[in-house]
Amino acid sequence: MSTTEKADVVIAGGGFAGLALALALRQGLGESFRVVVADPAFAADARPDLRASAIAAAARRMFETLGVWDAVADDAQPILDMVVTDSKLEHAVRPVFLTFAGEVEPGQPFAHMIENAPLNAALARQARAQGIDLRATAVTGFEHQGGRIAVSLGGDAVSVSLLVAADGARSGVREQAGIATHGWSYGQSAIVTTVAHERPHNGRAEEHFLPAGPFAILPLKGNRSSLVWTEADAQAARIIALPDDEFHAELERRFGLHLGDIGVVGAKRAYPLGLFIARSFVADRIALVGDAAHVIHPIAGQGLNMGLRDVAALAEAIVDAARLGLDIGGADVLERYQRWRRFDTMAMGVATDGLNRLFSNESDVLRLMRDVGLGLVDRMPALKSFFIREAAGVTGDVPKLLRGEAL
Ligand SMILES: Cc1cc2nc3c(=O)[nH]c(=O)nc-3n(C[C@H](O)[C@H](O)[C@H](O)COP(=O)(O)OP(=O)(O)OC[C@H]3O[C@@H](n4cnc5c(N)ncnc54)[C@H](O)[C@@H]3O)c2cc1C
Repeated sequence: MSTTEKADVVIAGGGFAGLALALALRQGLGESFRVVVADPAFAADARPDLRASAIAAAARRMFETLGVWDAVADDAQPILDMVVTDSKLEHAVRPVFLTFAGEVEPGQPFAHMIENAPLNAALARQARAQGIDLRATAVTGFEHQGGRIAVSLGGDAVSVSLLVAADGARSGVREQAGIATHGWSYGQSAIVTTVAHERPHNGRAEEHFLPAGPFAILPLKGNRSSLVWTEADAQAARIIALPDDEFHAELERRFGLHLGDIGVVGAKRAYPLGLFIARSFVADRIALVGDAAHVIHPIAGQGLNMGLRDVAALAEAIVDAARLGLDIGGADVLERYQRWRRFDTMAMGVATDGLNRLFSNESDVLRLMRDVGLGLVDRMPALKSFFIREAAGVTGDVPKLLRGEAL
């Protein structure tokens, strides 16, 4: 591969992780540090992302620091409290076993719900406004050349010190780098859609543990909620193909009538679920971030938040190295990043996997045990406050950007 163009970093993928990293590097190192973000989705009318995400307090601070939050703040719904139930589908009443008040500190919700499409658009707008080089092309390969890596972008090749894989769960960069993943598919899919309802949700998030998996009702701005409805793969495919009236009947059996009449207002899509963690987050002059490094069950709404934690840690490692005049793609820098993120990721992977196994089954004995457990947690304010702080992403060795500090 012959290259004439030089830059410092190529980021494969312009989803949340890739764009947030580009903005963090621009903020930390200025225009002279050349970053190219490549993603075919910048040009194509890619299928819109129907999902909404719970953005934890720490991730919100990062978006504020990167100058993105103001553009979406009016579309973000604070989660003011949360209820958890555990029952069979046919149970007429779903007793509430656990409630959480939603603040991590007074006046600070532990998370906001926001639709993915406007958040991603705001990141891309901010990247363009900052003059970041966004290219509507895929990374199609790479080749090590001495102390650099040459990255193919369609017909062009760019020589850089570091290639970052932010190219999602089916990362081609990860595959070409020969990094395998540990994990398994759950045989479950999440049906995602948006529902309008007659009565206000008052900022309440609901997680109903049903035998097929969690059914989450997540508050959006207005009288609308985003659904993450887990079913076995075949059942999800069957439900999503139903005519509207039959789909509505299945939905109402799970949603209930506590928010008045409901109606689907968005398209529907089923996302297959699995747990996949890359065996290594780094390779020679390559770093993996976001879903390219790990995919977890959405049961705790933490996948994107973990990806942003990767981004904040990698950006900090790169900026510190560049300021000292060190090689930003060197093994020490990449090891620092990997040490920072890998254990935390494994811990979250194990926790979400355990929760899904504990709740997604028909066993009455397990239901009794977990309901006693949930009841105990509900009576322990200190433990609840610990869970809220964990969910807000403010515990552990938090990188600067997630503490709201610029690099
Ligand atoms: C149903 C569901 C609900 C979820 N809810 C939440 C939640 O509430 N909170 C939360 O924190 N997380 C949640 N998640 C997880 C979250 O959506 C993902 O972790 C997040 O979208 C991953 O972002 P990313 O930037 O790493 O990858 P992606 O968003 O997948 O972006 C990857 C990008 O790479 C591009 N690309 C692919 N190949 C190439 C290539 N060769 N060259 C260049 N570009 C390429 C793609 O076009 C894409 O734009 C949920 C996930 C699911 C399935």
